[in-house]
Amino acid sequence: MSKPTLDPTLDAAVDPKTGPAVPANFLRQIVQADLDAGKHTKIVTRFPPEPNGYLHIGHAKSICVNFGLAEEFGGVCNLRFDDTNPAKEDQEYIDAIESDVRWLGFQWAGEVRYASQYFDQLHEWAVELIKAGKAYVCDLSPDQAREYRGNLTEPGKNSPFRERSIEENLDLFARMKAGEFEDGARVLRAKIDMASPNMNLRDPILYRIRHAHHHQTGDKWCIYPNYDFTHGQSDAIEGITHSICTLEFEGHRPLYEWFLDNLPVPNNPRQYEFSRLNLSYTVTSKRKLKQLVDEKHVNGWDDPRMSTLSGFRRRGYTAASIRNFCEMIGTNRSDGIVDVAMLEFSIRDDLDHSAPRAMCVLRPLKVVISNYPEGQVESLELPRHPKNDMGVRTLPFSREIYIDRDDFMEAPPKGYKRLEPAGEVRLRGSYVIRADEAIKDADGNIVELRCSYDPETLGKNPEGRKVKGVIHWVPAAESVECEVRLYDRLFRSPSPEKAEEGASFLENINPDSLQVLTGCRAEPSLGQAQPEDRFQFEREGYFCADLKDTKPGKPVFNRTVTLRDSWG
Ligand code: ATP
Ligand code: MG
Repeated sequence: MSKPTLDPTLDAAVDPKTGPAVPANFLRQIVQADLDAGKHTKIVTRFPPEPNGYLHIGHAKSICVNFGLAEEFGGVCNLRFDDTNPAKEDQEYIDAIESDVRWLGFQWAGEVRYASQYFDQLHEWAVELIKAGKAYVCDLSPDQAREYRGNLTEPGKNSPFRERSIEENLDLFARMKAGEFEDGARVLRAKIDMASPNMNLRDPILYRIRHAHHHQTGDKWCIYPNYDFTHGQSDAIEGITHSICTLEFEGHRPLYEWFLDNLPVPNNPRQYEFSRLNLSYTVTSKRKLKQLVDEKHVNGWDDPRMSTLSGFRRRGYTAASIRNFCEMIGTNRSDGIVDVAMLEFSIRDDLDHSAPRAMCVLRPLKVVISNYPEGQVESLELPRHPKNDMGVRTLPFSREIYIDRDDFMEAPPKGYKRLEPAGEVRLRGSYVIRADEAIKDADGNIVELRCSYDPETLGKNPEGRKVKGVIHWVPAAESVECEVRLYDRLFRSPSPEKAEEGASFLENINPDSLQVLTGCRAEPSLGQAQPEDRFQFEREGYFCADLKDTKPGKPVFNRTVTLRDSWG
């Protein structure tokens, strides 16, 4: 298999052909050292998605890291929905996330968990911080709060509400909880240090007022803890040993530790950060993916062009290919963009071994083999795989077949290895035919070819004659009509998220990312294709029977990937 061309402007971490013997994953070393030192006897990790969208390829990286480490070191991994924001979250997303994690091949420990299960405990801890003089209710408006916060070069100023008495704070926080105040009227803040060079420590918000219904807790709460006040404590409650997140949370780590140090938590998790996966030609932001769906630039979250796991699945990617890809690119702390060709390499590599071969003619042109006896049918046997033993499939061969329109040219360029007037070509697994005559309609379009076959050429080349090419074909009568969807990259630019000043990432959409071909003809065995069955259609690429639209006897095939990188 040819190696993908690696765009030199992208830092593809690993040569996909050779790959490093042990791909770099610095977290492995940390976990191993902790186990060796007896710091932990069993590691516990967690994957903490916010249920506000479907999982994408970036999440797959995080899932593989968290579940993968647990699996490798005999630990466990929890699935915990980070559901502190009632407004944008939805049961549909919860169901889809669970199903995607399972599809990738992982199982979480015990029941699914929700950060919202800990709201009572978090509230209690907030009250304890107030009682210890370490939290206060602040009435600054959002604009004022921003002004008081300072910036990277200037320290912040203390809020005029910072020195409220403990009694007043307890009373106001209780009334916030009781629903006495409007959204945004007050917040609860930690009392840390308004002059800290780390902005996250400048009296961060712990609780906001939000009169909103929550998908798990209903109308029980009208104050909600924010991410920072929730995450580390949830980790502590669950006994997480290694809390692994992406680099943008590095600056939050001191706050994460401040809460653990100032609250009577039952365990002491540690936070580690690694770099996010960014993939060329791909959007990995839930907000942007949601926009693509909401504005109907694609047909839903599982559109085969989407970088969501459900999209990749529908496109025909295997879970193994995605896991291999995540392993192949390593886990480190340096930000970069991985070439999407590496992901495509990974799926080709998997399907090359696992996908049976079949023939499907995408743009059929009828061929009548004039010298083949009328009414005669031969049953040809073709192996399902050139190397692996997958058995054979049978193909009837008779007088009328289909070949692809692109495999015949009247005036071909030099070096053309298909069929041309008076030229010869081998039909895969069958005879050599010669083109005798092209039949045209009134507009001059070729509608049919008349050919003759050489009966001496079944399975062997004619003596002393060189036949240039091999093309695929299907029998005219017995082939199955089908729809084929050809997908291309959804974006034209290698970094679609970095749109020009004032431009939207939507302007990078590739208008030709989907081509639907109807009236395609598949070899008879493909009539039985089940949703998600995968094939290599000879000379055309890897294809997968669509999960939703394939019906008995009426397959719809999605092109998963071309046979080789066509974007070099
Ligand atoms: P998005 O920006 O798409 O909304 P997010 O980080 O807000 O992503 P979460 O649901 O909070 O989405 O993510 C769950 C976990 O997945 C987090 O630990 C997050 O760090 C991780 N994650 C998200 N995107 C990536 C990525 N591109 N690469 C690696 N890990 C990621
Ligand atoms: Mg998030």
